[in-house]
Amino acid sequence: MADRLARMHTAEHILSAIMRIYYAAPRNLELHLNEKKTKCDYEPAVPIDEAAIQRIESMVNDEIRKDHAVSDFTISREDAEKRGFDLWKVPPDTDEIRIVKIGELDAQPCSGRHVGRTAEIGVFRIISHDIRDSGRLRIRFKVVDAGEERRKA
Ligand SMILES: [Zn+2]
Repeated sequence: MADRLARMHTAEHILSAIMRIYYAAPRNLELHLNEKKTKCDYEPAVPIDEAAIQRIESMVNDEIRKDHAVSDFTISREDAEKRGFDLWKVPPDTDEIRIVKIGELDAQPCSGRHVGRTAEIGVFRIISHDIRDSGRLRIRFKVVDAGEERRKA
């Protein structure tokens, strides 16, 4: 089993892809990741309610279960810019950009560690969320083993 941080980190890519595709939230504005839970901030252009939170969780799990291959490749900064990758988190002095792909769902610059296939993530669970007056949505999540969930059910 892949280590928990790699699992959580890969889940964050999928969550951010879902937020971008379905809720017009182009970026994860703030990310804090540790072994227990993680905190992600988005500015969705689409209103978010409780039902949306449920949908987000289940869409992330649907993508995990598709067992996408996670792969990476390296391109020059110039190529990355031409191809429209979002380089806002990449340090300005980095010339070689590593792009991490989650199947055909997502491709983002990233230097972190990931699982090899999305099914290794297990089950994605949103622990809590809040919406600020500014419209910023904060999501805290964890990943659990699929077997662990079944035992509790
Ligand atoms: Zn990553």
